[in-house]
Amino acid sequence: MNYYKYCSQCGETNTHGYIDGNHRYHCTHCKAIHYQNPKPTATLICPKGDHLLLGRRAFSPGKGEWGLPGGFMELNETLYDAALRELKEETNLEGKVTRILGTCSHYGSIFGDILLIGLQVDIDNWDAMIAGDDVSELKLFSINNLPDLAFDCHTKILSYYLK
Ligand SMILES: [Zn+2]
Repeated sequence: MNYYKYCSQCGETNTHGYIDGNHRYHCTHCKAIHYQNPKPTATLICPKGDHLLLGRRAFSPGKGEWGLPGGFMELNETLYDAALRELKEETNLEGKVTRILGTCSHYGSIFGDILLIGLQVDIDNWDAMIAGDDVSELKLFSINNLPDLAFDCHTKILSYYLK
């Protein structure tokens, strides 16, 4: 994680320590708290009958393993915007978000703390599917014969869908 060394309020040096009920990054001089928050991600369950779409990850973390499509929300987009943008980037598919399945918190990843939000997406036209962005291969797996997934939070979100 990168931290700003100097306080954006007063210019003094920031520190990690206890303030206002928690351990936070803050300035002891002017008491400004420099809040840090988990990054929200849209994590996608795309069913086709009794099959589910998985992508083989082209990069670390989890390189070479199977995972759910998705990625981080950007500024100025909604969760659903992020879901459909990531879907397009990674699979060239388009669709509609039909429901929020549940969430999973992952602490201390190489991206910091992440809040994964599982969304079900119904795909408009599967013929358009092309692997792209940070996915090297896409495949529809029978829900009765799914591989191990790259991340525990993907497995958890999958379990919300299957139950
Ligand atoms: Zn300060």
